[in-house]
Amino acid sequence: MPADLLETLNPEQRAAVTAPGSALVLAGAGSGKTRVLTTRIAWLIQTAQVSPMGLMAVTFTNKAAKEMLTRLSALLPINTRGMWVGTFHGLCNRLLRIHHRDAGLPQRFTILDGGDQLAAVKRALRALDVDTDKYDPRKVQSFINQHKEAGVRADRVEAWDPYSRHLAEYYAAYDAQCQREGAVDFAELLLRAFELLSRNALLREHYQARFRHILVDEFQDTSRLQYEWLKLFKGPQGALFAVGDDDQSIYAFRGAHVANMRLFLHDLAIAEPIKLTRNYRSVSTILDAANAVISHNADRLGKDLWTDAGAGEPIRHFEAGDDAEEARFIASEIEARRSDGEPYRQQAVLYRANAQSRAIEHALFSAGIPYRVYGGLRFFERAEIKHALAYLRLAAWPDDDNALLRVVNFPARGIGARSLEQLADDAAAAGTSLWAAACRAGRKFVPFVQLIEALRQEVTGLGLVAAVEHVVVRSGLLEHYGNDRDGAERIDNLTELANAAGAYAAESDDQSLEGFLAHAALEAGEHEAAQGQDAVQLMSVHAAKGLEFFSVYLTGLEEGLFPHDNSLNQQGGLEEERRLMYVAITRARRQLYLTHARARLLHGQTRYALPSRFLDEIPAGLVRSLSRRIAPAPSVAVAPAAAPVRRTASQPFQVGARVLHPRYGEGVVGAYQGQGPDTEIRVRFPKVGDKWFILDYARLTAVG
Ligand code: ATP
Ligand code: MG
Repeated sequence: MPADLLETLNPEQRAAVTAPGSALVLAGAGSGKTRVLTTRIAWLIQTAQVSPMGLMAVTFTNKAAKEMLTRLSALLPINTRGMWVGTFHGLCNRLLRIHHRDAGLPQRFTILDGGDQLAAVKRALRALDVDTDKYDPRKVQSFINQHKEAGVRADRVEAWDPYSRHLAEYYAAYDAQCQREGAVDFAELLLRAFELLSRNALLREHYQARFRHILVDEFQDTSRLQYEWLKLFKGPQGALFAVGDDDQSIYAFRGAHVANMRLFLHDLAIAEPIKLTRNYRSVSTILDAANAVISHNADRLGKDLWTDAGAGEPIRHFEAGDDAEEARFIASEIEARRSDGEPYRQQAVLYRANAQSRAIEHALFSAGIPYRVYGGLRFFERAEIKHALAYLRLAAWPDDDNALLRVVNFPARGIGARSLEQLADDAAAAGTSLWAAACRAGRKFVPFVQLIEALRQEVTGLGLVAAVEHVVVRSGLLEHYGNDRDGAERIDNLTELANAAGAYAAESDDQSLEGFLAHAALEAGEHEAAQGQDAVQLMSVHAAKGLEFFSVYLTGLEEGLFPHDNSLNQQGGLEEERRLMYVAITRARRQLYLTHARARLLHGQTRYALPSRFLDEIPAGLVRSLSRRIAPAPSVAVAPAAAPVRRTASQPFQVGARVLHPRYGEGVVGAYQGQGPDTEIRVRFPKVGDKWFILDYARLTAVG
């Protein structure tokens, strides 16, 4: 019964779900755009306007696509398998598999990710004897991708000077090589699918007749080519339905094109977009904060949002002395909320830069809180970190075969698969490690053997942090990523590794490389929350788009980090950062935490940053500050109004007293630090060791 589906919607949403023909929904965060889109699919199917196989829906991530199918099967008793619901890349892949012959591809074409693609570019350049000092393979790669994303093939490149003529030549050679090998990179997936439909009228008409409805979520982040691709599917009878929010456009750096929203209205002759104005996600405090921040941007399409969810709790603001303290504060809040019945999975920690996750992961790990990292790898599983750890392992113990295999040719030293096979045979025949075989082997391996020998000698006698820093540089990794167009983040992570070593040394009183490597292996392998286990969600703000959580911890609100330095130098950069801030704030349903640190270890050095300007853009009346004062203990009383007091007495337990914690069991009070609402208490537990809690939030009761 269609009435049921529509019953829970407000009138604007209902109008959007049942809009005849093509429509554009332009509405703010949490106003139900995704819900409208999903309900529209269900409604169209239920009212027999379309069959499940007669529509196509495009979402931004695989996670969102899965979510959409789950929601659909909850709304309707249909089989969602085989439905065309997915990401642009996923759907293009599907199209090309079906029509591989028409697309000029082998049935089993392989897909190259960014790393594979770079390797392929290098091979193509080598085959042409190109001087890679002059033509950096990464530059060639990005040249190729930019042109593919703009829909421009090698023979159409506008090359006015010899340099770009050469680049166009290499682009052509790379494409020819991919073609021979049956390989397709990400940009090629979209371009190939686009070309297939634009040139093949029969196929195009087939799909236009089939897909009567095409629906797109997060439309503000589509590129020009993606938009053109969508339009190819729309026949005379077809309807295109898009939902989006210009204030949440956060992929301009990847070619997203907000102007698509205006184009859409023009191309489809739509007079007005449908607006949804009621926000169902967040309490008004959070919504007011988001609206206040985004109002500082000019050039908006303009939208209003209201809610009747009530004001809710004030936003909590915490200024930490450093990033480690920020992370500990978050861990203790998460634990406290969970004790109050809020599951871990409803709590998300968001950060601007992936390198920030290291300190947070560490605090959660130490507190025994399960977590999962989305849209990015956990710190110790990132490729560059594994590479650095492999060098460190070889410095500690060169007979580590796995470590050797990982880096023997990284950065590249011209050791190919055949040489490695030979090495493995030699090692097996002699019954030794690969390292021992490499020491005996021919000159191909000499530079590598010398490098490892040198590393071993040079790190002897160095402290742990110095050893890690030394190996990161001496191995050539830093330089390697320094030449990489996308290497900035990897360099951040590599320098962050030295911070991780420093934290380990300070906490464990152990300066040994072996100890740190064991610690790294443990944090990497063991503590990712199991599938289905209740776990805190960690992700970058970019990866959080479209999602919602009960509580959101928004971290690193410092000038230079958020807004990020890189964006500030670019035109429109600050506006894009502000939209990112808007996305971040609007992920929270009930409670938002804003945190920053006065000092942060980044790029291998302590940076002292000012609080983010975005903090100043939030009206003070919405925020309650939990900032701690670490200046020499002031004897001034803390203003009671500023204190989120759940418990008052300044030191309710004596040092040495036994206390009970619901999670960690019995422990002994070790110390207090801080003042007023920021007082922290340290308790030593027999099983998990020392824990710091914010006293006001600590679930401790006296024993005996
Ligand atoms: P974003 O811009 O962040 O992607 P959105 O506009 O897509 O947000 P949704 O995720 O669809 O918003 O909806 C936000 C929340 O509000 C969801 O939990 C959704 O179930 C709920 N919601 C939407 N409309 C209604 C409604 N009419 N009644 C009750 N809850 C609703
Ligand atoms: Mg959405």
